Amino acid sequence: MNFPIRGIHHLTATVNDAQEDLDFYVKTLGLRLVKKTINFDNTGVYHFYYGNETGYPGTIMTTFPYKGKGVRTGVKGHGQVVQTTFSVPKGSISAWALRLKDEGIDFNEFERFGFAGLAFEDPSTLGIELVEAEDSRDPWLGGSIVDGSMAIRGIHSVSMIQAVPEPTVKMMTENLNFQVTAENGNRIRLEADTQGAGKIIDLVVDPKGDKGLNGIGTVHHVALAINNDEEHKALHEFIVSKGIRITDILDRNYFHSIYFREPGGVLFEVATIPPGFMVDESKDDLGLSLKLPQWEEDKRKDIEAGLPIISY
Ligand code: ZN
Repeated sequence: MNFPIRGIHHLTATVNDAQEDLDFYVKTLGLRLVKKTINFDNTGVYHFYYGNETGYPGTIMTTFPYKGKGVRTGVKGHGQVVQTTFSVPKGSISAWALRLKDEGIDFNEFERFGFAGLAFEDPSTLGIELVEAEDSRDPWLGGSIVDGSMAIRGIHSVSMIQAVPEPTVKMMTENLNFQVTAENGNRIRLEADTQGAGKIIDLVVDPKGDKGLNGIGTVHHVALAINNDEEHKALHEFIVSKGIRITDILDRNYFHSIYFREPGGVLFEVATIPPGFMVDESKDDLGLSLKLPQWEEDKRKDIEAGLPIISY
């Protein structure tokens, strides 16, 4: 395949309160706010990007805090990503358990494919996990929240729920450079490219549950990474040729995007690795000021006035 998926690019969720969201991801989990912008499709709502120092693809969790905007509470279920799992160094889970306890966050301990983890919820009830992993990615330490012995390395994997796994597995292995690498109980592990942390999507099979409904407290989409615009265009044409409905190529300022639904209903995006988050801010300044796409700059005053006041 000459347009291979390289792994996860980012994960985007619909969340509730902007300040609570910032406090959780920056102050509790220790991620860096690498970009503060707006939802390009709804300029009254922030778009926060959290990640490592440079916000490298595969480390990025993004949120739309929709509190007070009339968006319903979502229902978690089939056709959705229901767990977002971050990787932490081996031997650090007990330190994280103590930290979460100190922060008053309830959690469950688990073991998955031989690695220890913790499962809990963010302030909007999104399912979040930490799992120990081999992961050589650089963490963000500039926030001085946690030290290098426990800091999050990036997104390890996401878990999506499906009633029937076969069509999704077929689509991802035939078209998107994933391979089934492990199965345990009702969990099928799919890994892209060179495999490992940041390249894993788990499919959890649940024949009985209900269909998920998009809304606050649910994941909106998972984005997969591709090397460049040329491969992005080729993948777009390839997916069109398969008869799958797909958007045009959209300019998201920090990457270019296409969106389509996999057969189980999960919204997939494929985003280019370049140009990245330093296209409009230097590395040291990432996340410090509200960035708008060029086409919204003339409305900056009104847009700023319509956003909730936040501090961090
Ligand atoms: Zn996205």
